[in-house]
Amino acid sequence: ERGRWDTILHAGARDAAPETIFDRILRKEIPSTVVHEDAYVLAFRDINPVAPSHVLIIPKVREGLTQLRFATADHAFVLGKMLEAAAKIAADEKLEGFRLVINDGPKGGQEVYHLHMHLIGGRTMKWPPG
Ligand code: C5P
Repeated sequence: ERGRWDTILHAGARDAAPETIFDRILRKEIPSTVVHEDAYVLAFRDINPVAPSHVLIIPKVREGLTQLRFATADHAFVLGKMLEAAAKIAADEKLEGFRLVINDGPKGGQEVYHLHMHLIGGRTMKWPPG
């Protein structure tokens, strides 16, 4: 499915949902501290970190993924790239342990409707999360 994502990226595909602040970060209209960028995902430091290391990993093209609940088999490639990026960043940040979080919907604590994964580390995590 890599080919499909390359086609989407080159077409500048957009979905019908309103833009979010992450589109402005992707276009570099708003500065962010980028820790990883490849053809498919951007990862940058959260402006309101909840741990010493707090990185957001987002797909460059949202393609219907305002939230994880809309994921289908069509999104498998880019979802995999997000996890691959998380593993690389965790190693780059030398995290002894870390947590990946995807908030979905208002009751899931989601504020920005462009799929994103929180990579949180640098302290001991508690369970259950709040
Ligand atoms: O999962 P949720 O939608 O709540 O996460 C959004 C995250 O985006 C928050 O942790 C917030 O601090 C972060 N954010 C950011 N830079 C912005 C706007 C929001 O890092 N300009």
